[in-house]
Amino acid sequence: MKKTLKPLIIGNWKLTPNTLDEAKKRYLETAKAHAKYKSTVDVVVCPPASFIAPLSLLKKSKTVSVGAQNVSFWTTGSKTGEISASQVRSCGATCSIVGHSERRALGETDEVVAEKVAEVVKCGMTAVVCIGETERDEEGAYLEVIKAQIKKGLARISKQEIHRVVIAYEPVWAIGRTDNVAITSHDLHQMAIFIHKYLKEIFGMAGDLIRIIYGGSVTPENAFDLYQNGGVSGFLPGRSSWDAKTFEGIFSGVSLALKEIKKATKIQSRQNTKTKVHKRK
Ligand code: PEP
Repeated sequence: MKKTLKPLIIGNWKLTPNTLDEAKKRYLETAKAHAKYKSTVDVVVCPPASFIAPLSLLKKSKTVSVGAQNVSFWTTGSKTGEISASQVRSCGATCSIVGHSERRALGETDEVVAEKVAEVVKCGMTAVVCIGETERDEEGAYLEVIKAQIKKGLARISKQEIHRVVIAYEPVWAIGRTDNVAITSHDLHQMAIFIHKYLKEIFGMAGDLIRIIYGGSVTPENAFDLYQNGGVSGFLPGRSSWDAKTFEGIFSGVSLALKEIKKATKIQSRQNTKTKVHKRK
């Protein structure tokens, strides 16, 4: 799989930390850790909604962007407790996660996901659309689950808008576990090929512009292998993004893997040139 897109790493802070002071501290430590890698990886953090504006106002938000974990599909009016896409956008969010499995577990359907994705894109943000099977069966029915989530979740997005979508493949069985229960890079690669193929079926060549990232127990230990061999353009870590040092381990793993991929690509293209010259003789 070609890796032409800059790696994207999105940290999902979920319901942490408890206070704004802690959030600012974590954010600044993350930005400091990212400084060394800013030319190689794009990093976004998605804090709880109430921290989006204060973190976006910090100067460093130019290098580490801030995103939302969720938005409402309602846009205005008497909807107590809801937060709209345009509101988080105006607070500085550049993207929003949509359809995380923890929200789907609370009853969010593919149809709701589709409405949210459309609203996020309409507001000028990137929609990070989470898909993923609950379990894998030997007959491969889980592949149909993935297809249905893509088809229904992106139902309101046009070919012209698709560059504003990132697919986060997050198998539910791999979330919140340990790195040795995360997916293998081989299985991830198969799934990345499958998703890309299906996106191209729906969106044609525009499907190539969609980044697929992976989430589910990504750690500094498995990031190198999952990036080098998994066929994805980045990660959506949860717990590993809650500590700047651990998060940095993921930037580092991805950067190293990227170097290896570039080296291998150079060797391959030199070999191809040699073969061509040889054939001409
Ligand atoms: C997640 O919930 O999106 C996630 C990937 O969590 P973790 O990395 O903690 O498994």
